[in-house]
Amino acid sequence: MLYEINEKAIKLENQGKKIIKLNLGDPDLETPREIIEAAYEAMKKGKTKYSSAYGEKNLREKIAEYHGVSADNVVITPGSKWGVFATMYLLLKNGGNVVIPTPYWTAYELTAKTLGAETRLVRTELASKWKIDFEAFERAINGQTRMIILNNPNNPTSKVMDTEDMDRVVQIANEKKITVLSDEVYADISFVKTKSILDYDGSHVMVRGFSKMFTMTGWRIGYVIANRELIDKIGKLNQITITNVPVFIQEAALTALGMHDKLTSEIKKVYQRRAKLASKILSKAKLEFTEPEAPFYVFPRRRGLDSERFALDLLDESVAIAPGTSFGDYREHFRIALTVPDDELNVALNKICEAATK
Ligand code: PMP
Repeated sequence: MLYEINEKAIKLENQGKKIIKLNLGDPDLETPREIIEAAYEAMKKGKTKYSSAYGEKNLREKIAEYHGVSADNVVITPGSKWGVFATMYLLLKNGGNVVIPTPYWTAYELTAKTLGAETRLVRTELASKWKIDFEAFERAINGQTRMIILNNPNNPTSKVMDTEDMDRVVQIANEKKITVLSDEVYADISFVKTKSILDYDGSHVMVRGFSKMFTMTGWRIGYVIANRELIDKIGKLNQITITNVPVFIQEAALTALGMHDKLTSEIKKVYQRRAKLASKILSKAKLEFTEPEAPFYVFPRRRGLDSERFALDLLDESVAIAPGTSFGDYREHFRIALTVPDDELNVALNKICEAATK
């Protein structure tokens, strides 16, 4: 349905209609100039050849230093999405299931389906502020469970995981010797302190990327931090598939990391402002939601809503959003991405509220 909405939005745009697109997490901000220049400079210096499937030494070292691990524990991937795919492939290719709290980022379930792996979903609710129901969580785990996926902060709720919940998930995973894949692509730009899986003992996997942190979605670069055995396997998988992330892109990423604090604080500021604006307008319309604790989304609910119908109808009002059914069994919810300029966001939010309260 997510893709159907996007296709319809593009079709309307091709007919000359202006659509305010809040259906995808692709920020409107530009990639900072310095990052673009770094890629260009690297290309001019001839960094346009094949290279290591694990990533460039200088970039792996810089990431390792930032996270307090060894460079051998880091592999560079074409986007964090590939890091998620590669980890899921390697852990699930010989069978077994994966436990995922919902709402989830759509790609986890689609990837599991592609691999023929069973997903065991654990529903969390807005009413309990998306906290994990541990009875359901423990029921979902069985002898075949190979991995648990956490997404912290979460897409679509923009909620940062409760520390107690995270402690308990990791404790259960460690007791049962299950790997946690922690997708932390929004962690560095979250508005509140966010615990990482790297803060825990145990052999777990962290995935991060440059897309959201530095507005580099189209550059396709991310990384995985894990034990050497898994890093080695992902490197080998890179070798037989993508070969390597282009070296000039890695050079640009290195420049981005050098400007980390400045750029992430700028991005945070923009999205905090938009989150406040959205919260104000949505509250007035009496929609239920948790306030975003990270970019880029809000996931409101209106009782009795059929969000698929709602999303299609809203396109006629020139606004695209994502129905809640794209993130699990959440028909009464919809996801708004705050990824357009404030004035457009204001117009779109008011249209959404008007339509939702009709
Ligand atoms: N994880 C989550 C939770 C995401 O929302 C996204 C992008 N929407 C990704 C991973 C993929 O990001 P990348 O561009 O780094 O592949």
